[in-house]
Amino acid sequence: NELLRIEGIRKTFPGVVALDGVDFDLRRGEVHVLLGENGAGKSTLIKMLSGAYTPDAGRIVVDGEEVRIHGAQDSERLGITTIYQEFNLVPDLTVAENIFLGRQPRRFGMIDRRRMEADAEVLLKRVGVSVSPRALVRELGIARLQMVEIAKALSLDARVLIMDEPTAVLTSEEVDKLFAIVRRLREDGVGIVFITHHLEEIAALGDRVTVIRDGRSVGQVPARTPEDELVRLMVGRSIDQQYPR
Ligand code: ADP
Ligand code: MG
Ligand code: MG
Repeated sequence: NELLRIEGIRKTFPGVVALDGVDFDLRRGEVHVLLGENGAGKSTLIKMLSGAYTPDAGRIVVDGEEVRIHGAQDSERLGITTIYQEFNLVPDLTVAENIFLGRQPRRFGMIDRRRMEADAEVLLKRVGVSVSPRALVRELGIARLQMVEIAKALSLDARVLIMDEPTAVLTSEEVDKLFAIVRRLREDGVGIVFITHHLEEIAALGDRVTVIRDGRSVGQVPARTPEDELVRLMVGRSIDQQYPR
């Protein structure tokens, strides 16, 4: 049932201890929220899983075996897909080309291109977004970019889907749509790491929450934990202490 586990991860940049001992685990079919203030270390943590950074110390265990993730290929091979805040799409390529980037047939003539677009269409339909596979990515709004990223993740058969503050740029209608997709993925058994600092999203979507503060995991609690307790974990003191009456 456990997809991955992180134990005692540390990461230092010149002059900054970004991660100072983080534990985390992810199960099949759950949304595990990473909650923490700006600068707490959330993005650095997930970059260990996407292969962008390697840890200075600690262990990453996937399917019960310790792994080293050096680069995007290692991550992809393990079934881990990351949707970054800044996205990773190529503006001047079409939606279909982006979804299958790096995996197109070497010489793609008309038939291969049609097949690629048809495959993309199926994925886009699964995500529930109405966008043409032939549309240029640079012409899409931010919500559709997000959905194309998810379609791409589906095409990679992600077992672990990591989303870094995916709602930051969405309207509330778009958030509802995104949540519906995430719930469907969860039903399919995908494990989802969902980074946010919006407390209301935790109750709406999450199963468990790991709170990161100053590069450390300071608690793992159920998503239904009261908001004031989540805030206390996140900032290290109660709201009353922060805003005395
Ligand atoms: P979060 O995603 O929780 O806002 P980050 O993981 O982005 O936090 O950052 C954690 C800490 O590590 C911050 O102090 C940040 O400035 C620092 N940091 C992150 N990436 C780098 C980097 N590449 N070089 C130097 N410092 C970094
Ligand atoms: Mg941040
Ligand atoms: Mg971040």
